[in-house]
Amino acid sequence: MTLRKNTAKDLWKPKRRIEEMYKRTLKQIASQIQVKLKDAKTIEEILVELKKAINSPEFSRYADRAAMKMVTSLFADAGHTWRQAARKNSKGKGIYEALKRELNGPIGGSINEQIRRNAHLIKSMPLSISKDITEHVSKEAFKGRRAEYIAEDLQKEIPTMFESKAKLIARTEVSKTSTALTKARCENMGIDWYIWRTSEDQRVRKSHYHMEGVIVNWNNPPSPEALNNEKNVGYYHAGNIYNCRCYPEAVIILDLIKWPSKVYYNGSIVRMTRKQFEEIM
Ligand SMILES: [Zn+2]
Repeated sequence: MTLRKNTAKDLWKPKRRIEEMYKRTLKQIASQIQVKLKDAKTIEEILVELKKAINSPEFSRYADRAAMKMVTSLFADAGHTWRQAARKNSKGKGIYEALKRELNGPIGGSINEQIRRNAHLIKSMPLSISKDITEHVSKEAFKGRRAEYIAEDLQKEIPTMFESKAKLIARTEVSKTSTALTKARCENMGIDWYIWRTSEDQRVRKSHYHMEGVIVNWNNPPSPEALNNEKNVGYYHAGNIYNCRCYPEAVIILDLIKWPSKVYYNGSIVRMTRKQFEEIM
């Protein structure tokens, strides 16, 4: 791991604090369901309780509230980043103006879409656990394990199942939502390019490590795997795949970039001088 000073790009990094908060909230929601599962003695009773949770308006409200809180926190936090970026450059006034207007424009739509998407994922937790359980039960039954023992095992495993779902949702969705909000703001301001940033910790995928510092067009996402001679798993922007902590840094002003710089262009990563980049911008 390399240590480095706080630089402009750190500004754009989604705050870990928001991910932690989201994870905590999801775990609380999960534990409310788990309390109701505790008295279930058989597999059927466990599945019935999960179904009740799926259909419970109370659970649904909690999910909506959690999604809303995460998305609006990210939005407010990134707003702070944009204002700071505006302060540092000549286009600052335009950015301030755009930030003031943005809630009336397409960004309001993007925020609502992110809230809906996240609420849907939270609401799908009990259903997805139901499916995992059904699968687990048929495997164990095939091996000849008796139903009452399977139910006992499940009682022990269910908290871990919820925990890992909550963790995956928090980690993946905070990045995805943050990328979506940055993209919407860029669109609103006519900014077509961003710099792919990695979290620079040990968890960075090899294929993403190669994307660090590469300038990417919002209309043309790369396949980091294909670029790294790995199996292509799709074309996507920074932060937009499960467990990814990469994030986009908006290209607001070319003066802040060190030239020549790496650019994803025509399906590959090429080095460009500022002049070359200005021609394709
Ligand atoms: Zn990544």
